[in-house]
Amino acid sequence: MELSSRLTNITGGGSDGWAVFYRARRMIDAGLTVTELTIGEHDIRTHDSILAAMNLSAMGGHTGYAEVPGTADLRDLVAARVAKRTGVPTTADNILITPGGQAGLFAAHLAACNPGDPALFIDPYYATYPGTIRAVGAEPVPVQTRPENGFQPGKAALDAAAAGAASLLINTPNNPTGAVYSRDTLTGVAEICHAHDLWLISDEVYDTQVWEGTHISPRSLPGMVERTLLVGSMSKSHAMTGSRIGWVCAPEPVITHLINLATHTTYGVPGFVQDAAAFALQQGSAFEEAVGAPFARRRALTLAALKGQNIVQPVPVQGAMYAMLDIRATGLSGEAFANGLLDAEHIAVMPGESFGKAAAGHVRVAMTIDDDAYVAALNRLVAFAASQVSQ
Ligand code: PMP
Repeated sequence: MELSSRLTNITGGGSDGWAVFYRARRMIDAGLTVTELTIGEHDIRTHDSILAAMNLSAMGGHTGYAEVPGTADLRDLVAARVAKRTGVPTTADNILITPGGQAGLFAAHLAACNPGDPALFIDPYYATYPGTIRAVGAEPVPVQTRPENGFQPGKAALDAAAAGAASLLINTPNNPTGAVYSRDTLTGVAEICHAHDLWLISDEVYDTQVWEGTHISPRSLPGMVERTLLVGSMSKSHAMTGSRIGWVCAPEPVITHLINLATHTTYGVPGFVQDAAAFALQQGSAFEEAVGAPFARRRALTLAALKGQNIVQPVPVQGAMYAMLDIRATGLSGEAFANGLLDAEHIAVMPGESFGKAAAGHVRVAMTIDDDAYVAALNRLVAFAASQVSQ
């Protein structure tokens, strides 16, 4: 018996890009102290008040099967949130609650793509994107962006790749680059979607973490509501990564079909997790700002630490919890730099190459450790970079 090629081909046979991360983990297991700046996870836990709401719900009996599309309360709250953030009328019928944004990305691609269809995504990209596309049987097609353009996708590159494609996946604010797409960029994206009749899958899981510019949801652009499948999540906005709670917001007929998908795959999300999410959403924007505040602060610390030298250049960090650093002046690849830094300084960062071709010669630093340790690590990273140039 053989396993299906759709399953065995999810990673595409290549490296998963996490070699430096795994090596750092092995060093830690061997007793070494390693500063880890790899993973996109807050250095705070889910807030006690959210956990208390979860406990109250579970102890109150919400431990049976929950409604598969999501509880009425949570769907209403998410719909109201999306309506407020996009200005587009949105009801519970436009919302499917999913076990995290990742499951939402899978569902959205299954809705948009037939087997074999080309599915576009922007390079650099969040590591799971090509695998998610392969998992639904579609063909991942990266569209390159350039550091010189702040990693904003250009209309010409999109147009050149779009013939015959079924979908385009974008992510703003962006992981790994920190780019927040401008209105011009998104207008170009919308024009390409219209011209090539594409579904737009809009990953907005970092929408509360914007440090420069404004987050614009493409769902709000003229003519886009009917072709946009918006993916959201509580992971980043409320530090609820482990609760696995997110959503897809889409036209009602799409959601009707996606409810069938949920019935035959996940069978919904635990009721007590949904109740905790509903509680969290009701805490308002001050709560969300407090969750994002450490990254806003460390973004400023990053820019300050990199001032006065020109070997390590920050790509404009406009949003999310990462700083993408251009280390091309060292002459090293991102991978060689990250490996060298791990060996010499015991600091683990992600090579840009882990996120696609467009981020070659860069490293991604997660701003996810306390401020003092973060600044100390950056200073050592800069000194390491300088030592490579003078060699
Ligand atoms: N999209 C992006 C860009 C991400 O960085 C992540 C998580 N790191 C996700 C989606 C998935 O998030 P989750 O499943 O936790 O909601």
